Order: sequence, then structure tokens, then C-alpha cells
Amino acid sequence: MTNIVTNKVDKYDVIVVGGGMVGAAFACALADSRLRVAVVEAKSPDLQWPKPAYDLRTSALSRASQRILESLQVWPHIEAMRASPYTDMHVWDASGKGVIHFDCADIGEPSLGHIVENGVILAALYQRLQSIGNVQLLCPATPRRLTKALDGYLFTLEQGQTLQADLIVAADGARSWVRQAAGIEAHIEDYHQTAVVTNVKTAQHHQYTAWQVFLPTGPLAFLPLTDGYSSIVWSTSPEHAQALLAMEEDEFKTALETAFAGTLGAITQVGERGAFPLRSLHATHYVKPGLALVGDAAHAIHPLAGQGVNLGFADAACLAEVLIDALAQGKHIGAFDVLRRYERWRKGDNASMLAAMSTFKSVFTSNSPLVQLGRNLGFTLTNRATPAKNFFIRYAMGLVGDLPKLAKGV
Ligand SMILES: Cc1cc2nc3c(=O)[nH]c(=O)nc-3n(C[C@H](O)[C@H](O)[C@H](O)COP(=O)(O)OP(=O)(O)OC[C@H]3O[C@@H](n4cnc5c(N)ncnc54)[C@H](O)[C@@H]3O)c2cc1C
Repeated sequence: MTNIVTNKVDKYDVIVVGGGMVGAAFACALADSRLRVAVVEAKSPDLQWPKPAYDLRTSALSRASQRILESLQVWPHIEAMRASPYTDMHVWDASGKGVIHFDCADIGEPSLGHIVENGVILAALYQRLQSIGNVQLLCPATPRRLTKALDGYLFTLEQGQTLQADLIVAADGARSWVRQAAGIEAHIEDYHQTAVVTNVKTAQHHQYTAWQVFLPTGPLAFLPLTDGYSSIVWSTSPEHAQALLAMEEDEFKTALETAFAGTLGAITQVGERGAFPLRSLHATHYVKPGLALVGDAAHAIHPLAGQGVNLGFADAACLAEVLIDALAQGKHIGAFDVLRRYERWRKGDNASMLAAMSTFKSVFTSNSPLVQLGRNLGFTLTNRATPAKNFFIRYAMGLVGDLPKLAKGV
């Protein structure tokens, strides 16, 4: 943080740094409030639609996220573009006989969730943002210096403008500039895995099922897209990921088919490939007076349970609710006690999910015969124990716990 002297300052109530999925959703959640909001985003979003190919990045959106996006009037835009509901989830251990199968019919729901391309989610959020009078998008724009003001914070943009707000919301992802500039520490754990992502078409239809096999090197997921395509998330060692990226197309198809034990038959088409190093991150604090972290800026998690952006949307919905309640009570939106309510609401839930993913990751990459036996037994028992299994599904769908109003459709 630096002290700066400036003449002209553009004043907002809230500045959101980072207009990714979580930052954009948070700004939408403040639509029509009394707050003047600016979203500062470094990259111009690619809002082109229709697109010739599927986006490389997809998200498994939980029912809670769907409800939040419905409440924000964003979901109809998503459905009008492309979203793929999945009714079943089939998970198994490659080094044993453990299998677990989830079916939405078991809990009386029409689906377990939707697989949606990140580009589609973002395009739908920006479409909504453009119709909101109290939100201004500053893009492309990058903040340079963060200074504590009497009320809130002040910063300059690379472009020269100086902005001030009662509340800065950091939604600038896992490498958050705001988090670091504000001096908030984070616990970071390298998973020593890289996720290789691509989209494929298979000889057999995916049957609207999210498939995931736990290989000794990490989990491999086939997530159902529209028209029988599947989105691949293959978490593996960094060396193996490099090798997979370097392979010729036919060699990659064979490697993928073999790793997936031909479960959906031959891989008939494969798209471009990308890779993301995986690490978990949890900020020691989510808030300071005049500042709050949301989404990956506060926590990043292994994609094996597809929860990262779902946790982020819940953060956005909870923080917006806390601020709107504070306004109604005549409180200052940057006050520490106001922001602490948000931190108390979200930090415990996010910590539990992070801990669960780290345990899953360790248990499923262990070569110890005892651990292998235990996890196969665990799969088999959980698959048979209906109440435990149904609770697990509802938890993964985000339907358990202290939900924000936006996730209840209120
Ligand atoms: C392979 C993979 C698969 C995944 N699958 C799933 C899944 O199925 N389900 C799920 O829920 N989650 C999933 N996730 C996690 C999910 O992608 C993240 O949790 C989500 O993208 C976080 O959103 P965010 O908006 O918080 O951060 P980001 O998506 O990182 O967005 C941050 C935004 O801030 C902008 N920005 C950064 N720095 C600055 C700056 N200094 N100034 C201005 N702007 C800035 C960036 O340009 C970006 O637009 C997956 C992750 C990976 C890696």
C-alpha cells in the first residue's frame, strides 16, 4: 500500500476489483440498491455468441448457484445460450471395486446440477450488468496503488484515474492483487497436480451423467455438455500433464480412452487442450474495515468436486445480503462489525469444503494398500447407506446449511 496525493477522485460506495464470474455476480446482486458500484476488470470479456467451439473452461453449477443466478435474472440468459443438466453422477476407484452412483430421482430433483461453460456464465452476467443503472463497468482497467482513506480505500488505475469507495471488494481471483496490497495472508498448499482440460465427443452418449474415475495420479472427470460432447478435467502430476499436452491428437485420444477404461467408447473428436496448476488457498481473514474478499481471492480449491465457483457465488450472495441489511439499519457498509457478519457466515463453510477436498485428494492418490482398501470400502458402504448418500448429494447441491436469500429464491 502506498500513500498518494491526488486532485480529482471518482467516489463510489463499492468498488469490485475483478469482474470474473464471482465479481460480476456480486455486482448484479447489488442491482437497484442505493449503492453506487464500480467493477474494475483487467481484461475485456469475450462476449461473442454463438461461439464456434465449446469453451475450454466449464463449471458444474450447483442448484444453489442456479437459484442465485435465477434471482439475479441471469439464468434465463444462460439457458438461452447453452447449459447441460446432469441427472446422475458416477464415481469409481480405478484401483479397486469401489463405486458410488448418485441419481437425482433419489432426492426428487429434476437434475443434480448443470455443466455450463465459463464463457457462457460470464456473457450472461455481463448482459445483465449492462442493464443495471447503479453499476459502472471500468474495463479494461487495472488498479495500481491501494491507500487506506478515512472511510474505505482509494486507488489509482494504470489508466490514471483515481477511485475511492467505502468498501473495496476483492474478486480478483486466487492471485488477488487486492488481498496482497491489503496485507492479508493466505495459507497456500500446492496439490502437486495440474488439471488438463479439453472437450471431447465420445462414441457412446454420456447419458447426462457426470463421470469421475480416481486414478492413482489423480481424478479424471467427463462432464456432460450438449450434443453428446463432454468436458474433460484430468488432474494429474505436472510431468504427466506436460506429456499429455505435448501428445499428437491421436496419441492423446488413446491415452484418455485408456485412462477412462473406454467407459464411453472411443474418443471420436477432441478440441484444444489447456492446463491449470492446482493449489488450495485460504485467506487468514476475509475482511478488514472497508475491504472484503470473495471467491477465489478468499479461497481456491481442488476442482475434483466442482465447488470453487459455487462457493464464490455463495460468498457474493451473502456479502450482498449483509450490505443490504446494513443499509436498511443505517449502518456504514465498510464497518468492521458489518463485514465480520459476512466473514462468520462464509469462512467456516469454505474451510470445511477445503479440508474435505484436501482429504479426498490425499486419500485418492495414496498407494498404500490399507488406504486403498479403506476408500473402496468407504465407497461401497456410502453407496448402500441411502440417508448418508442423500445428505451428501444435497450438500454438494448447496441445499444444506444457512443459505443466503438469493439461494432460497427470496
Ligand atoms: C480446471 C478447473 C476446473 C474447475 N471446475 C469447476 C467446477 O466444475 N465448478 C466450480 O464451482 N468451480 C470450478 N473451478 C473453480 C472455478 O473456476 C473458480 O473458483 C472460479 O473461476 C473463481 O471465480 P472468481 O471470479 O473468484 O475468480 P477468477 O475466475 O479468477 O476471476 C478473477 C477476475 O479478476 C480479474 N483480475 C485479476 N486481477 C485483477 C486486477 N489486478 N485488476 C482487475 N481485474 C483483475 C481477472 O481478469 C478475472 O476476470 C474449476 C477450476 C479449475 C482450475
